Amino acid sequence: MEILSNLIGGAFVPAASSELLDDLNPATGEGIARIPRSRKEDVDAAVNAARAALPAWRKTPAAERAALLDAIAARLEAEAEGLAALESQDTGKPLALARSMDIARAVLNFRFFAGALRHDETGCHAMDGALNYTVRAPLGVVALVTPWNLPIYLLSWKVAPALAMGNTLVAKPSELTPLTASALARIVTEAGLPPGVFNLVHGLGAEAGDALVSHDGISAVSFTGGTATGARVAAAAAPRFRKLSLELGGKNATLVFADCDLDAAVEGAVRAGFLNQGQVCLCGSRVLVERSIYDRFLEAFVARVSRMKVGPPSEPTTELGALVSLAHRDKVEGYLALAREEGGMVLCGGTRPVLPAPYDAGAFLTPAVVGGLSPSCRTATEEIFGPVVTVHPFDTEEDALAIANGVRYGLAASVWTRDLSRAHRVAAALETGMVWVNTWLLRDLRVPFGGVKDSGVGREGGRHSLEFFSEARNVCVKL
Ligand code: NAD
Repeated sequence: MEILSNLIGGAFVPAASSELLDDLNPATGEGIARIPRSRKEDVDAAVNAARAALPAWRKTPAAERAALLDAIAARLEAEAEGLAALESQDTGKPLALARSMDIARAVLNFRFFAGALRHDETGCHAMDGALNYTVRAPLGVVALVTPWNLPIYLLSWKVAPALAMGNTLVAKPSELTPLTASALARIVTEAGLPPGVFNLVHGLGAEAGDALVSHDGISAVSFTGGTATGARVAAAAAPRFRKLSLELGGKNATLVFADCDLDAAVEGAVRAGFLNQGQVCLCGSRVLVERSIYDRFLEAFVARVSRMKVGPPSEPTTELGALVSLAHRDKVEGYLALAREEGGMVLCGGTRPVLPAPYDAGAFLTPAVVGGLSPSCRTATEEIFGPVVTVHPFDTEEDALAIANGVRYGLAASVWTRDLSRAHRVAAALETGMVWVNTWLLRDLRVPFGGVKDSGVGREGGRHSLEFFSEARNVCVKL
């Protein structure tokens, strides 16, 4: 079995303690790799290596940094098939999805930020008798901590802008899905990134992750993960006055109005509910439907969800693969039990499918639709992060908004209507960082990405990422 390494100062090394953690394929339960169980001394070494590399990297001309990002993108693209296989094995997601979403987006992230850097502009504010100009300086060593649902997609979304702006970095990927982070470490090295600019430390969140985000040698933390973890990360960063970006959980609503294109809304709600086994922070896990079309919508929705094919990730027709782990499936099943206790009816799914060996040991679950719940119950307000969607009727636009906004989260929403005025009105009244109208997860990498309320702090994307990963300095010159 492969034993992965940390990347510290350009060298692939084990944890100082030599301890290892198991990495499992959740579709089969088989061990696929062992990773370093890093602790504070490993994080210290990685931060020191990143500090040592900083002076030269921050002076590297922007054009050279952009060329290196493009070189990394080209290598990722050349290895796309192998990387997709790694991502699928590590997460349990369908291979076709890993190929079309995760790896394609990782390539694009590097290419996009290479272009963004080349076209970056800063401000100039002329006064009577003086001129202000703004320059952007790198922050220093930045800590990047990422989750398991979109491993290389989200890691590259942070690595590319951090490097573009001249920072050096230490990355801590999820211990559940370390494979593509290790592949990226090899690829950036082969692409010619100088030693120490990109450092990778594997390990547990409470050990390596905590040591990294509370390290005195870092200048910023960019974290994507759960809301409870985000609170711990914020508590570590706040007394050190570190710049902080938090992309956290969601309980996103899909609002379906009676005047929508029903077929499109059903398809959209299915995709929003169950993409990546429902394990996308943006997933529409609550579907709110105007009462006059509730029965028609529900019939079509349940029929479509019941037909979704759950199966081996490598089969091209598979729509849902395995959840990330057996423990996570237990958690999701726990919510289905809670839904029943709370008076809900599981209208389809929520069962363990019968699959041939070795997939009989995998963390598979059929996609579930739950009706009959109060929109304020725990099942309908807590993040489940699995293939479970609750459906709720509403009577008026105000009702729909009250339900949609009645949760602690505020990441995203999608609105299905043909009424343009309503679309704008509802988009303005939703307490979320992002709203899609008659679509879901349609991404332009320039737009602000992030949440309000307990879904996070700050925005990623385009200039928002470039601004996060740099410090603006104004220079005022008296003329
Ligand atoms: P998680 O919070 O358990 O872990 C995320 C990362 O933080 C992992 O690398 C983990 O090892 C690390 N970590 C854990 N404890 C830590 C600590 N005390 N200090 C520092 N690091 C620590 O999240 P997860 O289960 O991997 O991912 C699922 C969650 O991520 C969901 O809540 C989902 O909504 C959220 N998510 C949000 C976005 C977004 O953009 N808003 C995107 C994807 C996932």
